Amino acid sequence: MQPKDSTSPVIPSSYEATLRPSTRYGAITGTSFELFFTFYYLLSGFPIQAVLLQLAATLISMAGFVIVQYTKHVRLAAQLVTFALFLCLIGPGLYTGGIDSSAMVWLTFVPVVAGIMGGTATGRFWSSVSIAAAVGLYMLNRVAMIDLTTRLPQSIDRIIDLVFCIIVVAIATLINERTKRQVMGELDNTKAQLTELANIDPLTNVFNRRYFIHHAQTELERCVEGREFSILLIDIDHFKKVNDTHGHIIGDRVLNRAVAICATVLRKDDILARLGGEEFVILLPNTLLETASDIAERLRSVMENTPIGTDTGFINITVSIGISSYSPKEAISLQELIRHADDAMYKAKAAGRNQVVAW
Ligand code: GH3
Ligand code: MG
Ligand code: MG
Repeated sequence: MQPKDSTSPVIPSSYEATLRPSTRYGAITGTSFELFFTFYYLLSGFPIQAVLLQLAATLISMAGFVIVQYTKHVRLAAQLVTFALFLCLIGPGLYTGGIDSSAMVWLTFVPVVAGIMGGTATGRFWSSVSIAAAVGLYMLNRVAMIDLTTRLPQSIDRIIDLVFCIIVVAIATLINERTKRQVMGELDNTKAQLTELANIDPLTNVFNRRYFIHHAQTELERCVEGREFSILLIDIDHFKKVNDTHGHIIGDRVLNRAVAICATVLRKDDILARLGGEEFVILLPNTLLETASDIAERLRSVMENTPIGTDTGFINITVSIGISSYSPKEAISLQELIRHADDAMYKAKAAGRNQVVAW
C-alpha cells in the first residue's frame, strides 16, 4: 500500500464561505416569492405602490443573488436578500391594516432568515429592525391614529398568510440543513487531505517517518498475538557524491527515481517510507527473516542494475540494506527493532556497501 498522488489541500473555509450556500438558496427562494407576490398583488387589486414594493424586493433579491454568485461579498448579499424579504413582508402589513394585519406575524421570519444567511450578527441586526418596524406601525395605528388599510383583507389573503408561513419555515429549515451538510462535507474533505499531507514526504511522495512509526507500532501490537514481520532499512551508498558531482536538483531526482525502483519490489501490503535524507525503510508484514532477505537481495540487485536517467546522463546507485525481524517469541520494542536494522545496515556499509546484512 502506497500513498496516492497528493495535491495541495483545500484551504479550510472561512466563516463567510460557509454562509455562501445558504445566502445563494435564500436569494433564489426570495426572488421567486417576491416575483409571485408582485403578480398576485397586481392581479388582486392591491394599490400600485404595493405592487412596486414587491417588484423592488424582487430586483433587490436578484442583485443579492448576483453578488453572492460572482463576488466574495457574501454578507452584503445576505443583507440585501434580507432587506428584500423585509420589504416583501412589510408590504401586505402596510396595505391590510398595519399592526392589526395578520400578515404582521411574517416579520418573525426576517431575523431567522437573516441569521441563517448572514450569521448571528446579521440576525441580531434584523431582529432590531423587525421590532422597530412593529413598534413603528403600532405608533402609526394607535398613537397617530393613521388607518393604513387601503384594501380590506379577503379570505384568500388569510390562506396565503398561513401557507406562506409554513413554506417559509420549511424552506428555512431545509436551507439550514443543506448548508450544514455541505459545510461538514467540505471540512471532512479538508481533514482527510491534511491527514494525508501530514503522513507523506513531499519530495518522494511516499510515507514519512511519522506515519511509519505509527504504522509499525500498530503492526507490532498486532504481532504480539503470534504474527511476525520484518523491516528493511535502506541507505543509498555515497549519495553525497551524487550531490557533489551533479548538484542537489539532480540529487533530488535520483532520490525520487530510487523510490520508484524500490516500489517495484513491494507487495500489496508492504509499506515504504522515507526516514529522512537518503534513508528509507520498508515494513514487510507477515514476513519471516528468510523471505525478507530474498526481497532485500532483489531490491539491492534491481537498484544496482537500473541506471537512473537524469539531465546530466545516467547515474548508477547502489544501496546498503539492514534487516531485522520481529518475532513474538522474543518480543522487543519498535525502537530496538529499528536499532537492530540500523546496526545491520552499518555492517553492510562497513563490509564494502551494496550489500544486504541481517541482524
Ligand atoms: P554512505 O555510503 O556512507 O551512506 O555515504 P553518503 O554520502 O550517502 O552518506 P552521508 O550521510 O554522508 O550523506 C548523505 C547525503 O544525502 C548528504 C546530503 O547532502 C544528502 N541528502 C540528504 N537529504 C537530501 C535531499 O533531500 N536531497 C538531496 N539532493 N540530497 C540529500
Ligand atoms: Mg548514504
Ligand atoms: Mg545516510
